[in-house]
Amino acid sequence: MTHVFHRHLQHTPPVAVGGQGLFLRDAAGREYLDASGGAAVSSLGHGHPDVLTAMHAQIDRLAYAHTSFFTTEVAEQLAEQLVRTAPAGTSHAYFVSGGSEAVEAALKMARQYFVEIGQPERTHFIARRQSYHGNTLGALAVGGNAWRRAPFAPILVEATHVAPCYPYREQQAGETPEAYGLRLARELEEAIVALDPRTVLAFVAETIGGATAGVLTPVPGYFKAVREVCDRHGVLLILDEVMCGMGRTGTLHACEQEGVVPDLITVAKGLGGGYQPIGAVLAQRHIVDAMSQGSGFFQHGHTYLGHPVACAAALAVQQVIERDGLLAKVRTDGDFLGQALRDALGAHPHVGDIRGRGFFWGVELVADRASKAPFDPAQKVHARLKKKAMDLGLLCYPFGGTVDGNQGDHVLLAPPYIASREQLVSIAALLA
Ligand code: PMP
Repeated sequence: MTHVFHRHLQHTPPVAVGGQGLFLRDAAGREYLDASGGAAVSSLGHGHPDVLTAMHAQIDRLAYAHTSFFTTEVAEQLAEQLVRTAPAGTSHAYFVSGGSEAVEAALKMARQYFVEIGQPERTHFIARRQSYHGNTLGALAVGGNAWRRAPFAPILVEATHVAPCYPYREQQAGETPEAYGLRLARELEEAIVALDPRTVLAFVAETIGGATAGVLTPVPGYFKAVREVCDRHGVLLILDEVMCGMGRTGTLHACEQEGVVPDLITVAKGLGGGYQPIGAVLAQRHIVDAMSQGSGFFQHGHTYLGHPVACAAALAVQQVIERDGLLAKVRTDGDFLGQALRDALGAHPHVGDIRGRGFFWGVELVADRASKAPFDPAQKVHARLKKKAMDLGLLCYPFGGTVDGNQGDHVLLAPPYIASREQLVSIAALLA
């Protein structure tokens, strides 16, 4: 009998009792190879000694100080680290406790920015179908999964959803990737114009789609064209890198590979690497200046923002990534992982597409390869796959089957950056 309010109320999961490196252990003594880092969270694996040492030292020194009274050395150091490594023009890091909170804060920053600069008529967000931005009401409103929004639709802020960048299904025959990207940017512009550009706050997108679409990597030029469209209409660009950011794709921020600088970047998951709940909004100077020169106050905040132990964990994770050259490792070993997945699964009759970057890969499952027809959601292929993988001692992150547009079943692979090549090969072999 459990008194924990598990999301799946009819099923109590195994009890995790230990973790080391890429492995988790349950109370029955079973070991699991963590091929998804939880949900793309664990960047350095479990029990990393440098992170634990930094956290212990911080707990001994100071575990908590409320930000209405104090800042802390460790929050200042983490913000300095994040701003130094962020795209040009980033001036501040606003701390929160997770991904949804980061998105929520970014949406409110966008709104308050326009209020401060005298454009209060901007009230509308544009986001993408088949996206996930979190479960708080604002993040849910911009999220592109109609099934998730459905029960709450009447109480959500205004958001319009345009097409995601999903070449496997939506790039037309004869259309080059570049032309496809430009078409999507044109469609975004049409949506802005249809709403009246003066009413649009921001376009919100995951740089690389994650938890609803099996890793959607953008086509070349797409985000540059999107940035131009946003600039033309004074609309902010918010890139959600909660899942794909903090090194997961081989650069610290995925948007670096797209050659664009968004107004706001949201990060979480890999920031604290699972050692502590922490997220951040990385803000460009003009956003912060508008608030500091206007009301002088961001009208938002949570009790635990900038929690010292969370900041210590995140700072240690980031320092290890830098010290050990893990971004370069993720780039080269990421190509190796992609090849291992293609070798093991490429010819499988139910694998439609394998796509990704760095240590962020998605496998799209189909009932029929030729027609790309997804499985009937009633078959719950993703849930069966998750169970089978766990029985084999593998943690991967399957989801899907909710019939939302053409969303089918996907498996997400996001191993910790420290994974050895042998472990990457094992992941591909176990999946096959
Ligand atoms: N944005 C993205 C892109 C995500 O993948 C997630 C979580 N899967 C979130 C936001 C929400 O993060 P959290 O679950 O930490 O609230």
